[in-house]
Amino acid sequence: MKWIGGASNQDLAAIEDLAGLYSLAGVHCLDLAADPAVVAAARRGIAWAEARGAARPWVMVSLSDGADPHFRKAWFDPARCPSDCLRPCERVCPALAIPALGPQPGAISRFSGARDGAVSGVLEERCYGCGRCLPACPLGLIEERDQLLPAAAVAPLLADLRPDAIELHTRIGRPGAFAARLDQVRSAGIPLRRLAVSLGLEVDRAPFPSEARGSGAGVDRLVDELWNRFAQVRAAGFAPLWQLDGRPMSGDVGAGTAHAAVGLLARLGGLVPPGPVQLAGGTNDRTLALLARQPALAARVAGVGFGSVARRRLQPLLLAAQARGVSLGEAEDLWPQALVLARALVAPWLQR
Ligand code: SF4
Ligand code: SF4
Repeated sequence: MKWIGGASNQDLAAIEDLAGLYSLAGVHCLDLAADPAVVAAARRGIAWAEARGAARPWVMVSLSDGADPHFRKAWFDPARCPSDCLRPCERVCPALAIPALGPQPGAISRFSGARDGAVSGVLEERCYGCGRCLPACPLGLIEERDQLLPAAAVAPLLADLRPDAIELHTRIGRPGAFAARLDQVRSAGIPLRRLAVSLGLEVDRAPFPSEARGSGAGVDRLVDELWNRFAQVRAAGFAPLWQLDGRPMSGDVGAGTAHAAVGLLARLGGLVPPGPVQLAGGTNDRTLALLARQPALAARVAGVGFGSVARRRLQPLLLAAQARGVSLGEAEDLWPQALVLARALVAPWLQR
């Protein structure tokens, strides 16, 4: 049972609160951006939860072996926006990363380097790359920028972060890139409880936006690639965990997205390599009910990851605390309400 903070989410205040609340709700793992500030925020949240009796969850950080929607930020220059625009971009953003109050100072991304002082209409720290704003702009002003970690940065960063587990996002068609990333991880020399492999049906091809929304490969090819990654992970001496990515970063869109990850597992049949299977990408509070209708399929599922739906649930309370100028964890009347909501999502999976 994993809480997914987001591979490119750097909203430190929210991460600290959500890490604390979901740790206290009982998740076993927190999946975070590979960023020292993010991991430090999550560890503060874990300490908050441990002080209230929680067991310490694993800290997992996410890496990618190439372009991936989880590792990007939206960007646009608000000076180009017509003054009478109804701002559909702002309305569709689930992370409140496109503020109404006009241009924001361009942040310097800790991953991608300089922005040349450019002013961005997107609050970089909050953007987690879901991509919903990209088609929303009628003028096509919003672009996406990759947040890929340079090869040389991987080993020292991991040695600094010392995570319990790593998730490596990969794509069909990238066995070589996966091998290179895996080698960088291995050279960090840190003991890992698991190396999770996140893979879905999307194929590695450009351009990035259509790739994210486009059709994917057949299941046969996905099976081949899963077994390729299995051989690589075992050869590197790690224990694999399979994260089947149904529909990335969409669990809050609607109940129907739950079908994506469950359907992907159903299509794979019994052909997933050895190792626990975790569903993610579209997972939400409907996922368990879908599995309950398919006991043979459910027997193959070790766990689940909740990302956008977990944040959406607690967002009103995060905002209420923010309006008071305190964190949610400091708001003694609010965090118990948040805990009830978090537990409602987590507890059925813990009971299972
Ligand atoms: S990519 Fe998603 S999180 Fe980022 S600004 Fe666009 S809608 Fe918001
Ligand atoms: S929808 Fe496009 S034009 Fe309108 S505010 Fe957003 S980025 Fe600017």
